[in-house]
Amino acid sequence: MTATRIAITGLGKIALDQHVPAITGNSDFELVAIVSGRGATVNGLPSFPDLGTLLAALPEVEAVALCTPPTGRLALAITALRAGKHVLLEKPPSATLAEADVLAAVAAETGQVVFATWHSRFNPAVEEARRLLKGRRLRRLHIDWREDVRRWHPGQAWIWQPGGFGVFDPGINALSIATAITPSPLHVSASRLEIAGNHQTPIGAELTFDTPDALPGSRLTAVFDWRKEGEQSWTIEAETESGVHLTLTEGGRCLAVDGVPTIEAPSREYPAIYERFAALLAAGASDYDLRPLQLVADAFLLGERRGVADFDAG
Ligand code: NAP
Repeated sequence: MTATRIAITGLGKIALDQHVPAITGNSDFELVAIVSGRGATVNGLPSFPDLGTLLAALPEVEAVALCTPPTGRLALAITALRAGKHVLLEKPPSATLAEADVLAAVAAETGQVVFATWHSRFNPAVEEARRLLKGRRLRRLHIDWREDVRRWHPGQAWIWQPGGFGVFDPGINALSIATAITPSPLHVSASRLEIAGNHQTPIGAELTFDTPDALPGSRLTAVFDWRKEGEQSWTIEAETESGVHLTLTEGGRCLAVDGVPTIEAPSREYPAIYERFAALLAAGASDYDLRPLQLVADAFLLGERRGVADFDAG
């Protein structure tokens, strides 16, 4: 089989750190071009200022990886799909749920493959947690996702703007794991959002979830915080009715069962994403799960807002 010719749109942090090496390391793909508003490129590849220009110049491109911020993704996806290109979307697939539905409708109309990636799910520990929780009822679920925004998002103004998701930009990764591993569907039942006076999006959030099969007295909660200095926390704990206690740490890379480490896998989320994309392309199938985005949207819909001190994002 010949390699799928793919272009990257948006040559920012995640494209450079992960997409470029994952694509160039996978013989099912050939990275052929870049779209960059500021004219950036990598590996000497041709760079185009916008997607339309690239598609006109290089009709042989078969797929596009969209690595731009969520706002504006829909227009790019529609451009690519209507030009007959398959689309891989960085998370989240879009800025709103209605946009996500439009995107799915256009993909269906064109017959192209669309892959809404959730990178944190591509850890073996996440699949093992899902397997261990299957068919069980939860007594407790707690997400503790606290990181230093200055360290992980330097200079990214868009995360503080409407549509930028704020602390849900990393928080949606936890929700992508939670929706993958919980044995029955989660919904948000309460939400508290902390919003700094000088920003539009939350810097902190606390969520409570419910599920149709909740045990009486169960507690399903999440804390997201972008002001955590020192040790960072990307942890999900789950306890079942029978007392089995799972702890996923390092963003889903490590799993302990009843305190005993069972999986500590090196991170290969993005190589696994492109392996999955190759399989989807071969099958002509899409993968488009909106549950993490639904939970974030509902956190905003139900959110009790509290103003907090201005925050210097650096
Ligand atoms: P970033 O460093 O700010 O890069 C985004 C790139 O998109 C920019 O460099 C720019 O590239 C392009 N762009 C187009 N329109 C833009 C706009 N209005 N504002 C800013 N940039 C714009 O962001 P990122 O961290 O790579 O995140 C991009 C997406 O990947 C987000 O959805 C994020 O949630 C997701 N993601 C990020 C990480 C991470 O660790 N950073 C991890 C996983 C997923 P050009 O100048 O080349 O056009």
